[in-house]
Amino acid sequence: MTRTVPGPTDHVVVVGAGLAGLSAALHLLGAGRRVTVVERDALPGGRAGRRDLGGYRVDTGPTVLTMPDLADEAFAAVGDSLRRRVELIPLHPAYRARFADGSGLDVHTDADAMAAEVERFAGPAEAAGYRRLRDWLERLYRVQMRRFIDANFDSPLDLLTPDLARLAALGGFGRLDARIGRFLADERLRRVFSFQSLYAGVAPARALAAYAVIAYMDTVAGVYFPRGGMHALPRAMADAAADAGADLRFGDRVTRLERSGQRITAVVTDQDRIPCDAVVLTPDLPVAHRLLGRRPRRPLPLRHAPSAVVLHAGTDRTWSHLAHHTISFGAAWRSTFDELTRSGRLMSDPSLLITRPTTTDPTLAPPGHHLHYILAPCPNTDIGPRAADWSDLGPRYRDSLLSVLERRGLDGLAAAIEQECLVTPADWHAEGHAAGTPFSAAHTFTQTGPFRPRNLVRGTENAVLAGCGTTPGVGVPTVLVSGKLAAARVTGTRRRTPAPTRPAPAEEAPR
Ligand SMILES: Cc1cc2nc3c(=O)[nH]c(=O)nc-3n(C[C@H](O)[C@H](O)[C@H](O)COP(=O)(O)OP(=O)(O)OC[C@H]3O[C@@H](n4cnc5c(N)ncnc54)[C@H](O)[C@@H]3O)c2cc1C
Repeated sequence: MTRTVPGPTDHVVVVGAGLAGLSAALHLLGAGRRVTVVERDALPGGRAGRRDLGGYRVDTGPTVLTMPDLADEAFAAVGDSLRRRVELIPLHPAYRARFADGSGLDVHTDADAMAAEVERFAGPAEAAGYRRLRDWLERLYRVQMRRFIDANFDSPLDLLTPDLARLAALGGFGRLDARIGRFLADERLRRVFSFQSLYAGVAPARALAAYAVIAYMDTVAGVYFPRGGMHALPRAMADAAADAGADLRFGDRVTRLERSGQRITAVVTDQDRIPCDAVVLTPDLPVAHRLLGRRPRRPLPLRHAPSAVVLHAGTDRTWSHLAHHTISFGAAWRSTFDELTRSGRLMSDPSLLITRPTTTDPTLAPPGHHLHYILAPCPNTDIGPRAADWSDLGPRYRDSLLSVLERRGLDGLAAAIEQECLVTPADWHAEGHAAGTPFSAAHTFTQTGPFRPRNLVRGTENAVLAGCGTTPGVGVPTVLVSGKLAAARVTGTRRRTPAPTRPAPAEEAPR
């Protein structure tokens, strides 16, 4: 039995209506709690936000939706269903990879389609290696989800289960790039199955092989897009919570917590004072710690993940070689991760994610126009340019990214832009995100699982943390789990995560 919040928990205030807060709210409602959600923004979603840009509907945060069953679990907690509220479109291909040598590869979710693509790209031996890799990824996911991701930890000793031995036997504690290299010899293919460690804030050469679980989510379990954009997901979660009886308050900031001894007794906002029995805090850790009035001691300060520059570009034309998600890899690789995570320089030969959501939902742009979301990883403000530096640097970096993309086949991109919005680490800093990164604490070994800031707070018995700063970590699937785990700390009950549903085979054939 893991620890839970003692005493009454009838009325819970959830601070923040991002994906973690909404997941917590739905699971709490499902367990019979009265729930009030307080969100400073006018809309739900937090980092999964929405901005209107002259007729373009822009998703400001995540674009790659994996593991939608985890969201569905939150809906199911209140007898609702994700698919009743949101149309999920499986992406085929899940990604397109384009390499500096001019070659390209489509990443398919279906095993046979992907093996055929790998064979076309790099020959039969690599296709056989891909099938072995896929089998390994599936086993790795099964071991990790149950015990290491979908789990509340009270102590590192909680790791000592037979699954730890299974994870070790699967090579989960080796290095990610070396492990992927055991299955695939082709350098380009290795990148396709290891770049995801950057989502966790760690270079593939340094990340634990266990982080291949993200490649499982991306390349095996399938990538989806909600019709109406990613923001349709938090919107639907907020609607489901409201329909299940939650009191949702937008445009109201929590300024402090009132306490009596070890318990929070009320949440004070700009507009109100809300008495409560328990509180779930989902803002970034510095904000949560400020509200709690104490910052836990750690032997070493937290290391933060790299940040990102995002250019949202509404254009009057597009380029036929782009898929919904295209990764444009530079020739450089290890040095790129060095720049992002160690030396703190901007990528000299960038690898970029280009998402064109209008591929799947043209209504996100005015008729005949297209939306492009260009994400360039960059160093966080702890090791790279400071937040203040970005006011000069941002526009110059934008121009340099556009020139790189034009050289890589998006000819005429700069001239085609009619609406744009550039987001830099200065903007993430202004949102209150530590180290100017929206990706929180990096998933180094010492900042993962039981070593990541825990969701129970020492010295406050009825406050629980959720969101990307606590366990299990950063990303849409993980913060949805974090909301569920926080609710379990409050209620003492927990459902097990179901196995992911793959797109039906009929949906799978690559287009
Ligand atoms: C550019 C970008 C791209 C990404 N791409 C992907 C991707 O493709 N796939 C993926 O899986 N993940 C991706 N992520 C990561 C993912 O979006 C986040 O990990 C996740 O959305 C974080 O959710 P959260 O609930 O923890 O935090 P948040 O969404 O930040 O929620 C916290 C909420 O608390 C509110 N709040 C803060 N302080 C207060 C206060 N004092 N009072 C009231 N409310 C307050 C905030 O406004 C916010 O709504 C991306 C993130 C970004 C930014």
